[in-house]
Amino acid sequence: MESDPFNNADIQAGLSEIRLVRTISHLPLLALIVVALGEFALRSFLPEIGEAIWHSSAFQVAWQLLWLAAIISFLVGFAITRMDCPACGKRFHVRTNGTSFVYNTFCRSCLNCGLPLKGSHKYAP
Ligand SMILES: [Zn+2]
Repeated sequence: MESDPFNNADIQAGLSEIRLVRTISHLPLLALIVVALGEFALRSFLPEIGEAIWHSSAFQVAWQLLWLAAIISFLVGFAITRMDCPACGKRFHVRTNGTSFVYNTFCRSCLNCGLPLKGSHKYAP
């Protein structure tokens, strides 16, 4: 185990890879939720404008592409659980301890050793 993990290039490269895959996975889902809520609000409070945007062909194409991206990113979410922590070598987003099983793709630090994703907290293995 490294004494100062944030100066280790391998650990920093591993953490940036985890951050990249998480961004690819989470961003389309977030965009889908924001667009859906925005369209819902628009159709609720300004129905004429909301209906016009909803029935425009450009919005329909964008909406379908957003759904496709969200489905792909949902599948990428399964790849996230396979990613290993660069410090401890165990799964970053999965902790198995006997019969208990914890799974969190939104966690901010390794579920096994506590290595923070951003490297901003104190790391105590
Ligand atoms: Zn770890």
